[in-house]
Amino acid sequence: MHIPPYGHPDEDPPTWDAYRAASTAVEKHRERADAAEAKFRDAVRLIDSLIDVGDCWFDHHGGCQEHGYLRLELGEKCPQQEAKELVEANKALIDGQAR
Ligand SMILES: [Zn+2]
Repeated sequence: MHIPPYGHPDEDPPTWDAYRAASTAVEKHRERADAAEAKFRDAVRLIDSLIDVGDCWFDHHGGCQEHGYLRLELGEKCPQQEAKELVEANKALIDGQAR
């Protein structure tokens, strides 16, 4: 008795149409992922260009005086700091080292 290398022996083997459909679906998914990554990379580069080099300076209410985010709650992170962290975490992507 021949036992095929896929699934249960009682199952019908996948057809070439199924292989082609799966291959096409994978390729479409890959293209969408590449396009999304390109958009994300552009967004991170844009954010990088908007970052202020100054360090945050918080007043006693929690507002960042350096960047003008005066309505932050105590302990809340300044958006400039969040932007710096986002760019740092994705440095390889925007430097072209990823992939
Ligand atoms: Zn700040």
